[in-house]
Amino acid sequence: MEKNVHTFIGCDNDYKDSKTVLFGAPFDSTASYRPGARFGPSAVRNESNAIETYSPYQNKDLNDITVFDGGDLETPFGNPTRPLQMIEEFASKIIQDKKTPFMIGGEHLMTLGAVRALIKKHPDLHILCFDAHADLRNDYLGETLSHATVMRRCFDLTGKDRIFQFGVRSGERDEFDFAKENTFIQKFNFNGLDGVLAQLKGKPIYFSIDLDVLDPSVLPGTGTPEAGGVSFDELLTAALKMSGLSIVGADAMELCPTCDPSGISTALACKLIREMLLML
Ligand code: MN
Ligand code: MN
Repeated sequence: MEKNVHTFIGCDNDYKDSKTVLFGAPFDSTASYRPGARFGPSAVRNESNAIETYSPYQNKDLNDITVFDGGDLETPFGNPTRPLQMIEEFASKIIQDKKTPFMIGGEHLMTLGAVRALIKKHPDLHILCFDAHADLRNDYLGETLSHATVMRRCFDLTGKDRIFQFGVRSGERDEFDFAKENTFIQKFNFNGLDGVLAQLKGKPIYFSIDLDVLDPSVLPGTGTPEAGGVSFDELLTAALKMSGLSIVGADAMELCPTCDPSGISTALACKLIREMLLML
């Protein structure tokens, strides 16, 4: 007999044999609108049994690759400082063991923990981010650590011209002005992605998907839905273009299962995560 441990489908390999380490960051205390992303990782794990391990998109199967599901970090609620430290420590261990961290959110601020870990190993880290929101505020209501400031805090670490954002359709004028000077920002869609990826070839990349980049008609289950988003096919096509690049870490954030009782959003997230794991 073996322990009955519930993992994301097809991700039941041992830690030592695995190239990728999946883990959940169930924290949502800075959510500015609808909380509930804390339930994202467990929902994804539960619902993943409804999808196949095989991907007809990539002709690959999760059973052919080695992924360890490390479960969810026990992040305390409230102040994000400690959760960010926990993620940084956990991701650092994964990187040190020459594996790739893959985080399931949780709110987008948690990306900062993984980026802090990765930039220590890769000082020239580049960040590719798909998101409806610019997340470039210096503070949100006076708080510098917020899901609305996460790319700005990442910018503090990477510096100019290292963050590439696509699908952005919401933010303050100041954020877009800041982006013009300091990051690459493509509003509304993935136009220009091929050129950016050509530029990023050979560079270490952290790939972050805030699921609200999708149109809310496709993914209503997110804390800050924003009309005018991309379709699942557009997102998947864009995400699969990362194949062959040096992705040193990735995440899928801001799934809020309690915002979508139909479960469609969680089912979509499961499928997207499968494709991302197979692509890495
Ligand atoms: Mn975001
Ligand atoms: Mn967003």
